[in-house]
Amino acid sequence: MSKAPAIRRIGILGGTFDPVHIGHLRSALEVAEFMGLDELRLLPNARPPHRDTPQVAAQDRLAMVRCAVAGVERLSVDDRELLRDKPSYSIDTLESLRAELGAGDQLFLLMGWDAFCGLPGWHRWEELLKHCHILVLQRPDADIEPPDELRNLLAARSESDPTAMSGPAGNISFVWQTPLSVSATQIRQLLASGKSVRFLVPDAVLAYIETHGLYRA
Ligand code: ATP
Repeated sequence: MSKAPAIRRIGILGGTFDPVHIGHLRSALEVAEFMGLDELRLLPNARPPHRDTPQVAAQDRLAMVRCAVAGVERLSVDDRELLRDKPSYSIDTLESLRAELGAGDQLFLLMGWDAFCGLPGWHRWEELLKHCHILVLQRPDADIEPPDELRNLLAARSESDPTAMSGPAGNISFVWQTPLSVSATQIRQLLASGKSVRFLVPDAVLAYIETHGLYRA
C-alpha cells in the first residue's frame, strides 16, 4: 500500500517589499518557527506601474526579496503576482496556490491587524477561508477590539491556539509579536537623503541597492 503524502504547512506573507527589510524577515522567520511551517513564502504584490516607486521596478523588488531569503531555511519567494500583467486579488492568488497544493496541505495567510480589519473591503472576502487559515500578526500593545462586521466571523472561526488550527483551511488565529521598528518608508527616506541603511536590510539587499543605484534622489 502506498503511503499518504505528508501534509505540508505553508505560510504566505504578501507585501510591497519596497524594499524588503529585517522587520519583514525577523517576523517571517519567527512565525515560521513558532508555527512549525515547512515553508513561509514572501509574496511581492504587483502594483499599477505608475505607483511603483520611481526607478524601482517590480523586478527589482522581487530580486531583493530573492537576495534576502537565499539560503535561509523555511523562507522562500513566490513571484506569481508579479508574473501577472495586472494586480491580483488575494482570492485569485489563493485559488492559484490551492490548485498546486495537496488537498490536505495547510495554507496560512499572514496579515497584520490593520489589514485584517479591512477584510470586508476585499474582493470575495467571504471565500478566503475556504482556501486558507488566517494568521493575524498582532502587536502586544494593539487594541484587540474587532470591527463589528468581523465579530461574527471571529466568533465562528477563531481558534485561541494558532498552532492548533487543523485541516487545510477555515480558521483565524492570532500570533503576538513585537515588531522591529523599521519600515520600508524609513529606508527609502534614508537612501534618498544619502544615508546608510546598513543593518536595516540584509547585506545582500544592501549590495543590490548600491549596485543598481536604487532609491537615491
Ligand atoms: P511601507 O513603509 O512602504 O509602507 P512596510 O515596511 O510596511 O512598507 P510592506 O511591504 O508594506 O512593508 O509590508 C509587508 C508586510 O510586512 C505587511 O503585512 C506589514 O504589516 C509587515 N511589516 C512591515 N514592517 C514590519 C516590521 N517592522 N515588523 C513586522 N512586520 C512588518
